[in-house]
Amino acid sequence: MEIKFIADNNVGKLARWLRMMGYDTVLFRQKDDGHMIETALSEDRVILTKDAELVRRRLITEGKLRAILLKEDDPRLQVQEVVAMLSLNYHFKPFSLCLECNQALMSREKEEVRNRVPARVFGTQTQYTECPACHRIYWQGTHWQAMVKKLQSLQAEGGINRITS
Ligand SMILES: [Zn+2]
Repeated sequence: MEIKFIADNNVGKLARWLRMMGYDTVLFRQKDDGHMIETALSEDRVILTKDAELVRRRLITEGKLRAILLKEDDPRLQVQEVVAMLSLNYHFKPFSLCLECNQALMSREKEEVRNRVPARVFGTQTQYTECPACHRIYWQGTHWQAMVKKLQSLQAEGGINRITS
C-alpha cells in the first residue's frame, strides 16, 4: 500500500515537496492536534510534525500511529529526513498531485485549455493536467523542469549526507 501523510501546519512547505514527488499529503491547518490524530488514524496517514509534545502521545509511543518528528527547520532538509527515514523515492509519481490541494491531477486535451493558459505556453506545450478542485492547469514547462532539477539536487545532496554522517 502506498504511504500517505498528514503534515502539521508547522511543516507546510514539506507537504508541497512530498506532493511534488507524488506522495498523498494532506496539510492540517487547525490547532486541534486531537483532530489531526483522528484523521491520521482513520485515513492511515503518517504524521509529520515539529511538535515534540505531539509525538509523546500514547497512540504514537505504543506504535498504533506513526509519526515523524522533524529535526530540521529547512524544508529541503526536512524532505531529506523523511526520504531517508522511510526510503521514499524522489521520483515516485512526479506531478501527479496538485501542489496546492493534494488532488489527483486529470489529463486535459490541448484544445480544452486553449483559453486557459498563456498563448506562449499553448504554442509550445502539448500535455496538460488540471486540478479538479482548484482548476489550476499544469504543463511540463520551465517551472516543471526547475522543480525536477530541485528534486534531483535534493536527492544528490541526501546521498552525500548519508555517506558522511
Ligand atoms: Zn488544486
